[in-house]
Amino acid sequence: MTLESKNKLEIAILGAGIAGLCTAIALHKKGINVTVYERNPGPKTIGAGMVLWPNASAILDKLELLNDIKSISQTLEKMQRRSDSNKFLNEINLSKIASNTTYSNHAISRQALHEILIKHTIKSKITIHYAQHAAEIKKTPTFTSTTKIKSTPI
Ligand SMILES: Cc1cc2nc3c(=O)[nH]c(=O)nc-3n(C[C@H](O)[C@H](O)[C@H](O)COP(=O)(O)OP(=O)(O)OC[C@H]3O[C@@H](n4cnc5c(N)ncnc54)[C@H](O)[C@@H]3O)c2cc1C
Repeated sequence: MTLESKNKLEIAILGAGIAGLCTAIALHKKGINVTVYERNPGPKTIGAGMVLWPNASAILDKLELLNDIKSISQTLEKMQRRSDSNKFLNEINLSKIASNTTYSNHAISRQALHEILIKHTIKSKITIHYAQHAAEIKKTPTFTSTTKIKSTPI
């Protein structure tokens, strides 16, 4: 497939979560036109902390998001499991694992990660239609630009 024919592809992504926004940024980098539909009325930047493991860090580096992530995340050296009464159960030495990998883990709040993804989506001029609940996908025999997604305002 040539870049010219790729440019004619129109891809709709349903959901502006972590997966949807990463996919949108990745496809945009390949020169493919993407539009994101999200049922929430705006960016949903709530959530707890999460750890991006080295395999995720490698992908985020390819998407040119890792520097932003590094600036507001921390690398964990170990993880401990404890019982509900706080009794130590076991420990994983993450520094030892990191010494065998090119990339580190990054502990980050889900909100901060989502904000970085939104920032890069805006920078890439990718359109996100909020408050649009995709209710039906009308497929043509071959998946072409005539394939329609019926989204209804919520
Ligand atoms: C407390 C917590 C801690 C976590 N910790 C980690 C961790 O340490 N490491 C890790 O790798 N993962 C972690 N996870 C999991 C990780 O956050 C999720 O796997 C990730 O957010 C999933 O992303 P997603 O884009 O697939 O889904 P979501 O973030 O759920 O996004 C899906 C989006 O699609 C939208 N949507 C759904 N249906 C439609 C529709 N019909 N039309 C339009 N929009 C639609 C939804 O509104 C939503 O915004 C954690 C999750 C939680 C809750």
